[in-house]
Amino acid sequence: MRRRWLFADQLGPHFLDSPRQPVLLVESKAVFRRRAFHRQKAHLVLSALRHRAQEGDVRLVQARTYAEAVDEPVTVCHPTSRAARDLVRRLPDVRMLPPRGFITTPQDFVTWADGRDHLRLEDFYRYARRHHDVLMEGAEPVGGRWNLDADNREPPPRGSARLGVPEPPAIVEDEIDDQVRADLDRWEREDGIVFVGADGPRLFPATRAEALARLRHFVDHRLPEFGPREDAMLAADPWMAHSLLSPAINLGLLDPLEVIEQAERAYRDGNAPLAGAEGFIRQILGWRDFVWHLYWYFGPHYRAADELQAHRELPAWFADLDADAVEARCLSGVLAGVRDRGWVHHIPRLMVLGNYAMQRGWSPAAVADWFHRCFVDGYEWVMTANVIGMSQYADGGRMSSKPYAAGGSYLNRMSDYCRGCRYDPKVRLGANACPYTAGYWAFLARHEPQLSGNHRLRRPLQGLRRLDDLDAVLAQEQARGSSAP
Ligand SMILES: Cc1cc2nc3c(=O)[nH]c(=O)nc-3n(C[C@H](O)[C@H](O)[C@H](O)COP(=O)(O)OP(=O)(O)OC[C@H]3O[C@@H](n4cnc5c(N)ncnc54)[C@H](O)[C@@H]3O)c2cc1C
Ligand code: SF4
Repeated sequence: MRRRWLFADQLGPHFLDSPRQPVLLVESKAVFRRRAFHRQKAHLVLSALRHRAQEGDVRLVQARTYAEAVDEPVTVCHPTSRAARDLVRRLPDVRMLPPRGFITTPQDFVTWADGRDHLRLEDFYRYARRHHDVLMEGAEPVGGRWNLDADNREPPPRGSARLGVPEPPAIVEDEIDDQVRADLDRWEREDGIVFVGADGPRLFPATRAEALARLRHFVDHRLPEFGPREDAMLAADPWMAHSLLSPAINLGLLDPLEVIEQAERAYRDGNAPLAGAEGFIRQILGWRDFVWHLYWYFGPHYRAADELQAHRELPAWFADLDADAVEARCLSGVLAGVRDRGWVHHIPRLMVLGNYAMQRGWSPAAVADWFHRCFVDGYEWVMTANVIGMSQYADGGRMSSKPYAAGGSYLNRMSDYCRGCRYDPKVRLGANACPYTAGYWAFLARHEPQLSGNHRLRRPLQGLRRLDDLDAVLAQEQARGSSAP
């Protein structure tokens, strides 16, 4: 049997044909030289790779380039980026297999997508559920509804600083982590390699055993609470009831199929409500597979899409995760979360970070690069649709029906950040003007011609035309620009 070359995001057993298949792993320091990744991301990836090297018949090669390291006939599962796929194609004696680590196949996606004007998650998700018989009762969705999102948009509980769901047990670091930390310190000190973010205890699984324990804990203790407050934020509770499984799934330590099977089983055994199980399965079978396929389907030029003509560079305070420079309580808290953990949940990514970047006209490609480098679960394939498409609307609506732009009233409803903020979410003009509220109107005004045909924005655009202080708001936001709010 040929040795299987595993990329660092293909570490689980589902990337092998048999448990005894010999493995080649390549560790390349050069990757960290090319761009400034979050320190905790570098730690997680190296720790996972080196832990994997301890299991079974594995050759771990530390090399400058992948091409140098692959010096025998190998097979490899289709990599997750174009650059890696092109490299694999160029190397002699490397046989590439179809992708693994996702639930639906590329052929299924193309069959579904071809001929459609608009690619919408909801349609793909229903197709995937039918095709894989997930949460189905014959031809119908269990419970009679495909989508329980309407039940899953509750604000955070008033008067509580935390959601109160059991936190996952902390990861216990070992000597491999010690070695990784020492290497990263040395690379920074002696090799001029630069990281962003703070170092800290490893928060996410680096081994299959740790990942399985996290999955078990989530399904038993957190999934029952997953649904209703999926979109809510609490300043003192970064995790809420989210699974925190994206780093482990994206490293390939967990097979997404086993993850959704466990969630469905919990529902069918009466251990999780349908809203939680459906909401969670939608994220993985729906969103995760959807954005994976869009990365390939939209082609290499999609990453450079910039329909809103947003060209501003990222300001240094944002690029450097300088949360202390920011007074806006929501943005400061979320940026501190990225700095200290390399992870915040979906709504802070979309509605605090991405929303602000879009309002300020920052370059979508620069924003995508920032997310890729600063998040422990960031990979090129996941950035393209999530950042370029969903968060920055740089594709003009190919994958979402309206831009995810919102003012302070949304953030006030869905979080406890505004209490205690020096700005007021209801105010758009003056010293207390919330930068999100004022920025929202400025964004709509700037893009009114492009957005006026969008029926979902009819009411906000009517509201915009009624503002009697719009010129002053625009001047104020012009002056604020990209400075730290
Ligand atoms: C601007 C932006 C950037 C993002 N960057 C990343 C990223 O770098 N890596 C990443 O894995 N996800 C990314 N996401 C999607 C999502 O925010 C994260 O997957 C999720 O927050 C991870 O936390 P969790 O594991 O607790 O997720 P949960 O809320 O518990 O969801 C369960 C799982 O569903 C999957 N999932 C949910 N939504 C998405 C999505 N939109 N795209 C892909 N997978 C999804 C993940 O595997 C996740 O673990 C991004 C979203 C936005 C809006
Ligand atoms: S008032 Fe505005 S800036 Fe302050 S926390 Fe609320 S939304 Fe954020």
